[in-house]
Amino acid sequence: MIISKIEALPIRIPFRSGTRSDDSAWGDKNLAAADSLLVRVTTDQGIEGWGEAFGFRAVRSVKLAVDELIAPLCVGKDAGQIGPVMHDVYRKLQVFGRSGPLSYGISAVDIALWDIAGKVANLPLYRLLGGAGIDVPCYASLVRYSEPSLVRAGVMEAIGAGFRALKIHEMDLHAIRAAREACGSEVELMVDVNCAWTLNEALDIAAPLEELKLKWLEEPLWPPENWGGLAQLRAHCHIPVAAGENVSTLIDFDRMLAMEAVDYVQPSPAKMGGISVLREVFPIAAVRNVPVMPHSFYDGPGLLAAIHATAALGTKDSMIEWRAFNLEAHWYGDTFGPQAGRIPVPQGPGLGLEPDMNVIRDYRLPDG
Ligand SMILES: [Mg+2]
Repeated sequence: MIISKIEALPIRIPFRSGTRSDDSAWGDKNLAAADSLLVRVTTDQGIEGWGEAFGFRAVRSVKLAVDELIAPLCVGKDAGQIGPVMHDVYRKLQVFGRSGPLSYGISAVDIALWDIAGKVANLPLYRLLGGAGIDVPCYASLVRYSEPSLVRAGVMEAIGAGFRALKIHEMDLHAIRAAREACGSEVELMVDVNCAWTLNEALDIAAPLEELKLKWLEEPLWPPENWGGLAQLRAHCHIPVAAGENVSTLIDFDRMLAMEAVDYVQPSPAKMGGISVLREVFPIAAVRNVPVMPHSFYDGPGLLAAIHATAALGTKDSMIEWRAFNLEAHWYGDTFGPQAGRIPVPQGPGLGLEPDMNVIRDYRLPDG
C-alpha cells in the first residue's frame, strides 16, 4: 500500500456573526475566523487518511513545508510503515529545524498515516493503540475576551453547556477574577496566558492568583522553553503549572519533566510529531507521575488524535481541550461534541470520523 498523493488544504471558517467570539476573539478584530490546515494522504488503493497541522497565521507556511519538503519524501513509500517513513523525513529535514511549520506539517502527515492504519486494520485508533473507551473528560477552552463582562458571559455559557472544568485565556487580573466569580468555587478553572510574563512578573501576580484556586496556570513564562523559570515559579508559589504545547521533541519533553517544570504536561498532536510522538510522551510523563493534558485547540483530526491517544494511554486525570468557538460550520457536523463535560471517542475505523467535504469545498482558501 503505497502513498500516492499528499494534499495540504488551508481552510478558513469564520466565527458566527453576532457572537462574542466574532466580536472579541483575542481582542483582535482582524482574526474573525479560525484557520486550519487539513492534510489528506491517499494510497494507491484509494484509502484516504486525514491529518491536521496547527493553524492560525501559520497555515500557508505549513502548506509550503508539506508541499515542497515533506510530501516529496513520503510519496511512493509504504503507507503502513509509519515509523520508517517518518524517521526518514525527520533525518532528511532536520537541518531546516525541529519545530515550527516543518514540525506542524510532519505532525499532520503522521496523523493521516495513523488514520490510514486504523482504516486498514478496521479498528478505531484508540484500539490500535491498545486502549478502550467510550468517552473521555473534556474541558471548555474559551477565547480571550479581555472585557470582564464578556468573560462572565462566556463562562456562564460553558457552564450552561454542562462543563465543570474550563480554561480562559485572560491575562488581566480583573478578567480572571470575573471568571472565578462567575463559575463559583466548584468548577475547575484554568488560566492560559500564552507565555506572557517574565519570572519576576509572574511571581508578582502569583499571590492574588493563588487566592483564586486555579487548577493550573498555563505557559506563564516567556520564553516558553524557560523550564528552569517554571520550576522556580512552582517552588515559590502554590499554583500548579501546565506547559508543553510548544515543546517539539521527545528529548525536550524528557528534559522539561526532569527539571520538574510542570504539574501537567501538554503535548500538542498537530505540532510535535502527531500520534507517533504523542504516544511516547504518555509513558515518560507517567514515570514522573505528571498527568498528560493534551493541547487540542483544534476542530479536526488534531482533536481526534488527542481523543484517541488519551482514551488509549491517558490516566483518569487526563482531559481533552475542547475549543469553545462559535464557528459557522463544523468538520464533523453539529452533533459531534462534548456532553456534560465528556467527549465521545469516535468508534469508526482510524480517527473514526470523516471531515465534511462540503465544509472543505465551501471554506477552502485559495492555494496561492
Ligand atoms: Mg495553551
